[in-house]
Amino acid sequence: MLPVSGVALALREPTGEDEIYVLETTLAPLPAVLELARRVATTFTGGPVDWASLPATDLDAAALMVRRSWIGDVIRTDASCPGTGCRERIDVSFGIGDYLRHHRPRRPRSVIGMAGTGWFTLTGAAVRFRLPTVADLLAAAACDQPAEELCSRCIDAPELSRPLARRLDRALSALAPNLDDLLGGSCPACGHQVTMRFDPLAYTLAELRQAFSGIHLEVHALASAYGWPEAAILALPRSRRRRYASMIDRERRAG
Ligand SMILES: [Zn+2]
Repeated sequence: MLPVSGVALALREPTGEDEIYVLETTLAPLPAVLELARRVATTFTGGPVDWASLPATDLDAAALMVRRSWIGDVIRTDASCPGTGCRERIDVSFGIGDYLRHHRPRRPRSVIGMAGTGWFTLTGAAVRFRLPTVADLLAAAACDQPAEELCSRCIDAPELSRPLARRLDRALSALAPNLDDLLGGSCPACGHQVTMRFDPLAYTLAELRQAFSGIHLEVHALASAYGWPEAAILALPRSRRRRYASMIDRERRAG
């Protein structure tokens, strides 16, 4: 279930076409993952998901759910220690389920929903605001001043004082926690504390590209062995294509 909107997702297995899409897309991570989500995710009852209107946090969560479904729950990433002369490898690993639980949205008491509008207000403040959606982020990314554009789309206040901006920031991080967050770790050799940025969209794309990098060899093996056209092989679900490829491989090794 997507954390902010509560939409229940169903993810399908990737086909070779999806894998080729991931490998070849030149889009930035946000539109690239948006397109991937449109391809492989539906609501639990099989209907389309209106991704553009969903809070941006939910697309980050969907990327992590795709990663969990196709590769597994545990993410392992590393950094080299920035301590003077150390350079020891610092491993950071965590489960996607735990990460999503840790970043679970909550509604602070001072936040009041304006029924049926998608807008909120804060107690005792002249302000109306809503959660930035995927469409807002895409529109902002196309502007010269993305942060200002996002504010003007999602915040409506006669005057945005600093204390009010801070209250809004806290309210937004509670209602739709940013999953593009910092991870902490400590060096096993010198104890130096490090923080590294974890961007769910860029991370998922990079990892899927690595996972899918064997597809050309498999298509080649199936096309050579069975004479099937490329389109027919790419239409197969990944698991079935890989089973055929491993049978072909076993036979070659035996022969
Ligand atoms: Zn160190």
